[in-house]
Amino acid sequence: MSYAITCPPVTTLPITGSPDVFPVRRIYCVGRNYAAHAREMGHDPDREPPFYFMKPADAILPGGSVMPYPSATSNLHHEIELVVGIGKTGRDIPVARALEHVFGYAVGLDMTRRDLQGEAKEARRPWDMGKGFDCSAPCSAMAPAHDIGHPEEGAIRLKVNGEMRQEGDLDQLIWSVPEMISHLSHLVELVAGDLIYSGTPAGVGAVERGDKLEGHVDGVGDLTITIGD
Ligand code: MN
Repeated sequence: MSYAITCPPVTTLPITGSPDVFPVRRIYCVGRNYAAHAREMGHDPDREPPFYFMKPADAILPGGSVMPYPSATSNLHHEIELVVGIGKTGRDIPVARALEHVFGYAVGLDMTRRDLQGEAKEARRPWDMGKGFDCSAPCSAMAPAHDIGHPEEGAIRLKVNGEMRQEGDLDQLIWSVPEMISHLSHLVELVAGDLIYSGTPAGVGAVERGDKLEGHVDGVGDLTITIGD
């Protein structure tokens, strides 16, 4: 037996300090995980259980790339996020053992066609076309936890054309990394290669063609992309 068409390539992320690469299986994203961002989107930041949406693995765009301005939107938003890379498969993972399942961390952008997401919210339709489009998941290299540990605090920020747009701290996460891993693993089996985009701090906004986006998470790394035509 052979494949009838060319097999799609496996999406990978570089690993800081290693010649190996991290194969990406699924991309889970946590919604509204910083109180100030929940407020700016018009929601009560009370500690309601986390909720998730997904992006396809091949939506990953490596750091240093040009992101083509996507079709079907005139309101492309940036959301800077800490990305968790799962290194060990598991389900029903207890909070106390969740970090054993982490391979490492990266800096990601959950790029969003805010106009399409807004229409979907209003019509009670899925967010997929607002969130899971081509190149919608820029991501830095993966920094292994065995090198950097498990960051619980530290600055997370995004500059656009040198101007600060988003600024927060990992200690402001409503649901911590172990809590989100545990919660999500009760809904689906988390498999080595899965990524979790952990939510964005306040300050989301639109970007335009030609803009340079510089993201940073203390102790994890940096991510730079440019918006193209
Ligand atoms: Mn997000």
